[in-house]
Amino acid sequence: MAKDEFSLEGGSGEKPPGRKGNGMYCSPAMLAFTILTVCVLIAATALLVFYIPDRTVVVDAATKAPQVGKTTVAAVKTPEPANPTMEPVNPTMEPVRPTTEAPSDLMKGRLPTSVLPRRYELNLRPFLYDDDVPDSKLGQRFTFDGWVRIKVQCMEATDEITLHAKHITIHGMPTVHSVSTLDKTDIFESHTMVEEYAFLVLKLKEMLRPHEEYDIYIVYSGILGDDEAGFYPSMYMDSMNNTRYIATTQMEGPYARRVLPCFDEPTFKASYDVQLEHRTDMSALSNGIDIRRIQLDSHWSRTYFKRVPSMPTYLLAFIVNDYDHIDVVNPNGCLIRIWTEKDLIGLAPYALNVSDLVQTYLDEYMDSEFPLDKQDHIAIQDFGAGAMENWGLITYQDIYLLYGMEDFGDNTFYSEIITHELAHMWFGNLVTMEWWDDLWLNEGFATYFEHIGVDFVHPEFKKFERYYIDTVNVALFYDSLGTYPSIRAPVYATDEDIGNQFTRITYQKGGSIIWMMEHFLTLEVFNVGIQNYLKERAYKNANAEHLWHELTYADKDVGKHDVKKIMDTWTLQLGYPLITLTRTGQDVVATQKLFLQVNRTAQDEEFGNLGYRWYVPLTYVYKSGPADQYEKPEKVWMEPEDYSYFTLPDEAASDDWYLANAKMVGLYRVNYEDDNWQRLLDQAATDPSVFIEENRVGLIYDTFYLAQAEVIPNSVYLNFSALLEPSSNSTRRAVVATSSYIAKMLLSDDIRRSVSSVQTYMQRLVEPLYAESGWDATFIPDVQTASGRQGKKSRIDVTSMACFYGNSHCVSKATEMFEDFVNNPTSNLIPLNQRSVVYCSGIRFGGQSEWDFAWNMMQTTNDRRERSRWVSALTCSRDASLLKSYLPLVLDATVFNRKDAEVILMGVAENPAGYGVAWDFIRSEWGAITAMFKRNRQQNLADIFEEMTSFFNTPQRLQELLEFGNDRQFGGMQTVYESAITTTEVNIRWMANSAEQTKQWIDSRVYKQW
Ligand SMILES: [Zn+2]
Repeated sequence: MAKDEFSLEGGSGEKPPGRKGNGMYCSPAMLAFTILTVCVLIAATALLVFYIPDRTVVVDAATKAPQVGKTTVAAVKTPEPANPTMEPVNPTMEPVRPTTEAPSDLMKGRLPTSVLPRRYELNLRPFLYDDDVPDSKLGQRFTFDGWVRIKVQCMEATDEITLHAKHITIHGMPTVHSVSTLDKTDIFESHTMVEEYAFLVLKLKEMLRPHEEYDIYIVYSGILGDDEAGFYPSMYMDSMNNTRYIATTQMEGPYARRVLPCFDEPTFKASYDVQLEHRTDMSALSNGIDIRRIQLDSHWSRTYFKRVPSMPTYLLAFIVNDYDHIDVVNPNGCLIRIWTEKDLIGLAPYALNVSDLVQTYLDEYMDSEFPLDKQDHIAIQDFGAGAMENWGLITYQDIYLLYGMEDFGDNTFYSEIITHELAHMWFGNLVTMEWWDDLWLNEGFATYFEHIGVDFVHPEFKKFERYYIDTVNVALFYDSLGTYPSIRAPVYATDEDIGNQFTRITYQKGGSIIWMMEHFLTLEVFNVGIQNYLKERAYKNANAEHLWHELTYADKDVGKHDVKKIMDTWTLQLGYPLITLTRTGQDVVATQKLFLQVNRTAQDEEFGNLGYRWYVPLTYVYKSGPADQYEKPEKVWMEPEDYSYFTLPDEAASDDWYLANAKMVGLYRVNYEDDNWQRLLDQAATDPSVFIEENRVGLIYDTFYLAQAEVIPNSVYLNFSALLEPSSNSTRRAVVATSSYIAKMLLSDDIRRSVSSVQTYMQRLVEPLYAESGWDATFIPDVQTASGRQGKKSRIDVTSMACFYGNSHCVSKATEMFEDFVNNPTSNLIPLNQRSVVYCSGIRFGGQSEWDFAWNMMQTTNDRRERSRWVSALTCSRDASLLKSYLPLVLDATVFNRKDAEVILMGVAENPAGYGVAWDFIRSEWGAITAMFKRNRQQNLADIFEEMTSFFNTPQRLQELLEFGNDRQFGGMQTVYESAITTTEVNIRWMANSAEQTKQWIDSRVYKQW
């Protein structure tokens, strides 16, 4: 799934306006007017265990051949010999790794492996409209009827077959009979549901015989749910203002069980023959290409789809729709189609162009051609996640596929998301993780490939230079909270635990360690390794051990790295190291230590701990180094020990600065002895361009976070920010992002200190960006070339930010446009992509009458995008009493739908005048609010919670937060809650120790000319 991989700017944790929220995508309305914020956290589970199941493969030092072994936490440090007794569960499946054999709670709710699915034959008929209902077995709209025939193979004698089913009504009795023998007697005896695990257990009259195949047949009905999980309806209005529905699916996490009785775990791969029945005036899509359509009667037709080869249930997709499409056949013969509501088809060409280019490119890059006949991309209005990589039928929230539909103003965004989903065709779909604890093999790689795809389509965007900002720095931020488990932490077989895997750790930390591997192995070795991995594991499952093995093998005659040994330290424990370097003469002592913003205890057992020492690929450059040193930096491998030593080259003069983490590809932060910090500052003062852009940006973020954690004095960050800021747009943005934190703290209502100099400071920082790419830059969505627009990138963010900080040009222009519209509401001359900014500013700088106008517009418009802009704009008010009256309406479904409610909650939560209002409201209505954010939408509540609490910087707020948690079970929200506590503690400490000094520094800057 594509969830949180997109940030329009600085993944530092500071969100400048317009940056995507965490986790799921924000709605466009949120996007347009986000305010600077410190992001903190997300979901993940807290239910992690006492027993760290071993993913360790003990590598024989002589051969480096991995062997599967079994160890516990303690034993990880001194691994036991490989377990020779471990037998493959069955000869045709891969051996299940020790995790899944562990005699622990972790196996609760997991399917037995005595019977495996080989092929599903499936027929579904959804009932979307009233005139469909007479044929519904449940006699209701928004239900579906179906039957499934599952060919299974017995692996171990048993008289039971266990599979998953949820919210499914079985009609009559299932049947089970042998297909290996002539005897077709039905051996089904009875069935029971085990609600806790959503198990459907079929009890048989006789024992199944190993290696024989059987046929299960079940006729059933299900619900088209209202929570965007499983099979569900999505509504839209057509141009004639008619309400229309499509039926669509979202199976990941474990939601396929709501659509068909099935073996709903990723290892149980099988092939599928699908047929969908639909109104004759609609059509149907599934993973395979449609091969035949027949008319059943005057109302219903049936479409048959080509068989899809071995895949897991979570990739199934069924869509009954009345959409239009455009298509192209790519050079490798694959039919590529973009589907949307008919009225939006004009926005599809850019997506078609990009998906055609990128898929063809990836065929070659992976050295493995996409195996299906077609690849559909479809825009869906009601869609909880950003996009979903169903094999051959990728689903997107419409605004993320249709270029120009919303105000993103940045086409890397679309090419990123399309590439992300296409990368899954290999990483996830062709080769599937064995269990959800290796979800990073899907999402880390998809995150990594985003940059490869965008760079291919738009080399002018220099996407690789942004890897640190987009990915590494995001991981560094979240992983310093100490509240997220390791990348490969154990996962229970519950909806909640599986859902909680979709975190920044899985995506951005996964993407970061892959990027780091690519660099220490070299791109050539890395690509051979992943190509072999894809070939070896195609149509099968994989865990991280398989990847380590292939990468080690590819490197056997080159770097001879033991990839598993290195990468276990990055995947089996939380966090990353702070590297502290101290130079004496030419000798440098390097120490490593877990870097956390706040020292926490007790997470060792919970989240994985290999002693918090890492194999660190440390790189560095130095003042007198060669011209190409950033490309070929000096390298040192730090062992997982407290100390390492290395010697600077003789060419490094005694007064040379040295700078570690060349190009910022390493997942660590670096501190130096005082002298070196001073030399780096001196260099920044004389000629910062000596440092490449990635490292200039890295110096800003590293020093900001080290200062925030009180590792170095705050003045180091402040000085770097002043010296590096003017050197490029990227450094400007980094300084704006980190300073936004300062502004947020100092402007916080809780403190109520004098703010004018902070406002001025922020205005001046934003000014050059605004001057370059503010209002006057024209936005022309050129769907064909989409090039030459780099300068306009993030224009909307910049304008929003300029207006937010009170840039007089911005504010007067926005309010003028707003007033013109108020005076003549029948003709809206505000360009589409400027409306969010204008509406929000109109409300922010206006009063009751502007509010009333906006409310009226929101109520009366027929255009859902326009309505959404108004819904969002109303949250921009600086009048807490207006926000207080607005917020409770989110609970009234007759006024606001769920999406509106999210926009409103987020808008108020991130408004400096509103977060306290939101906090009071959320605390008092917690039950009702959590009920609104179910399943795929829970992440959105986590984002809101994170935004809101990022303002908290007083002991009073901390106390309120702690009291709120008393005796409360947060379930999937536990991590976000704990992270909020950590962030509040960090903020309180910053206010106590750094606020005054920073304020004085800003005063002194503001009162002299820059
Ligand atoms: Zn994904």
